[in-house]
Amino acid sequence: MKVNLLDFDLEGLVAFCQQLGEKRFRATQLFRWIHQKGATDFAQMTDLARALRDKLADKAEIRGLSVITQHESTDGTIKWLFDVGAGDAVEAVYIPEDDRGTLCISSQAGCAVGCRFCSTGHQGFSRNLTTAEITAQLWFAEHFLRHRRGSDDRIISNVVMMGMGEPLQNYDALVPALRTMLDDHGYGLSRRRVTVSTSGVVPMMDRLAQDCPVALAVSLHAPDDALRSNLVPLNRKYPLAELLEACDRYLQHAPRDFITFEYCMLDGVNDGPEHARELVRLVNAHRLHSGHGGVWCKFNLIPFNPFPASGLVRSPDERVAAFAKILLDAGLVTTIRKTRGDDIDAACGQLAGDVQDRTRVAGRIARQRTVMLKPVTMRPE
Ligand code: SAH
Ligand code: SF4
Repeated sequence: MKVNLLDFDLEGLVAFCQQLGEKRFRATQLFRWIHQKGATDFAQMTDLARALRDKLADKAEIRGLSVITQHESTDGTIKWLFDVGAGDAVEAVYIPEDDRGTLCISSQAGCAVGCRFCSTGHQGFSRNLTTAEITAQLWFAEHFLRHRRGSDDRIISNVVMMGMGEPLQNYDALVPALRTMLDDHGYGLSRRRVTVSTSGVVPMMDRLAQDCPVALAVSLHAPDDALRSNLVPLNRKYPLAELLEACDRYLQHAPRDFITFEYCMLDGVNDGPEHARELVRLVNAHRLHSGHGGVWCKFNLIPFNPFPASGLVRSPDERVAAFAKILLDAGLVTTIRKTRGDDIDAACGQLAGDVQDRTRVAGRIARQRTVMLKPVTMRPE
């Protein structure tokens, strides 16, 4: 089997090229062809010697993911469903805004954490994605969008690991993909424009701080251990005190940064004024909220995207606003997330679509293959 070059960050590609007897700068050229120009064919790479191109064609390939469907929302959001084989599919979502283009990508097929409010969690865990499968989502989306716009200008300015899966439970594959995003010869994204979102895998937060301290979002969802363990089962392993200490350590590695706490607003479950007040006490107790002008954390309140199997309901707007006011009055930076791509099921936690369990994915893919005939499929409603 040929080696998929999307599996490598630059250092990995350098090592691969060295095995072929090639110098470092050749690997850099190749890396730029792949990520900056979106090349798939070694024959295109005219500044590489013919002999090297032949050698590469013999041993390696640049293999993306096949797109099962593409849905485009009226607000410009685009959602792709990619086939990762054996009946598994993962999704990526492009969210255009005035000043940025954000791509939300997946790290696993399914997820083992099993949060109550998340349809990926309800789907169960299938497998970790490879580095190539993580990187390919960005590689594909960036070059697809450039091609469509007919321009070589960079389109995706931000990446968030907020699609399917828990990125810190697929650490070894994640880190090279992050490095490719950050590399000046790759996508050249700044550390602050790449966000890893985690449900709180404490030991891996510490490793990420050392290896690749990108922006960190922590899915909090509750101000006390009893409620959080109920919503995010991983809390039983890494309870709140440990999680917040890990946040504090993370910030020591990235001193001018802040942690975003995500909080999914569930009606009558975690959205009362008492929860908001408890949350203020919690972050103050952990020094995550500096009293002297610095901002160490921000809250992002996410309106829950309901799906039937959850049995949960989205908090009414007034309740979300009242919750936000308590945090704001306590001096905590708080935003309420706008939902995007609602009409194409591309909002948070909806990425698994109507999948109830993994055994149904294969059938769904089979049905959706027929849709592939049209390059862009709009939902009828
Ligand atoms: N596993 C990681 C990243 C993927 S989930 C994590 O949990 O952080 C990305 C975000 O979407 C998380 O904050 C998660 O809590 C949120 N989310 C999941 N399901 C949701 C839903 N149904 N409605 C709103 N947000 C949801
Ligand atoms: Fe997994 Fe994140 Fe969904 Fe929880 S919210 S089940 S950690 S993808």
